Amino acid sequence: LLTVRGLQKRFGSHEVIKNIDLEVSPGSVTFLIGPSGGGKSTVLRCMNFLETPSAGEITFAGERLCHTEKGRLHRASDAVLRRARAQMPMVFQHFNLFAHRTALENVIEGPILVLGRPREQAVADGRELLRRVGLLERADAYPAQLSGGQKQRVAIARAVAMEPRLILFDEPTSALDPELVAGVLDTIRSLADENRTMVVVSHEMAFARRLADRVHFVADGVIAESGSPDEIFDAPKNERLKQFIRSIL
Ligand code: ATP
Ligand code: MG
Repeated sequence: LLTVRGLQKRFGSHEVIKNIDLEVSPGSVTFLIGPSGGGKSTVLRCMNFLETPSAGEITFAGERLCHTEKGRLHRASDAVLRRARAQMPMVFQHFNLFAHRTALENVIEGPILVLGRPREQAVADGRELLRRVGLLERADAYPAQLSGGQKQRVAIARAVAMEPRLILFDEPTSALDPELVAGVLDTIRSLADENRTMVVVSHEMAFARRLADRVHFVADGVIAESGSPDEIFDAPKNERLKQFIRSIL
């Protein structure tokens, strides 16, 4: 579904992503783990072009979003990139809801404006999604009236409402109070149970272990090791990864 080859990203002279290859197959859950500053968020942001890569090739749903030829990056048209971004929404650490819209309005905005759904259908679908994340009775609440965990579940419902082919999560629980984490993880797990394709950056190792089909350890702008959860957590080979796993246990 998504293929990344030779991805590089520089900010000025700072080479943040040095060379990353990865492949996301349909229906799979991929976790990116690794030390702070290693480049996990930047990889996610390059995938859906919130950040323009410096070099490399990204193919999504059969369309090439960018490639490098003779040292120059060529990007697809804005229409192609817009479509890709709509099919690959990102759920952020800090929810990013529209503060002056209710939970339901946050969920239906994309379907109406981007997917062109009739309002009544978007409302019916949006209410069903809020029900599934356990927030139907809070549909008319504004973000300020919701807990962090509730806001994050609205953000997830909003991403799902776009009928995405791939959902990107960047530390969806790391801004939450500990007692709110489980509800959000449960919501993400239910999406995995529906065989949705997801790429998740998370420090929740027990969660990664349970949910991941594939884990990539990102450090210093490269994938230092990849494997199944058992391989990564029980039999790490890379020294950095061994150290990382010791540090989080
Ligand atoms: P964390 O676990 O702390 O979220 P991360 O693995 O997600 O870390 P990134 O956010 O991708 O790491 O950052 C990788 C490096 O890129 C860091 O050194 C960071 O300072 C740098 N960086 C990220 N975004 C920018 C930017 N817009 N401008 C300059 N440098 C940036
Ligand atoms: Mg990050």
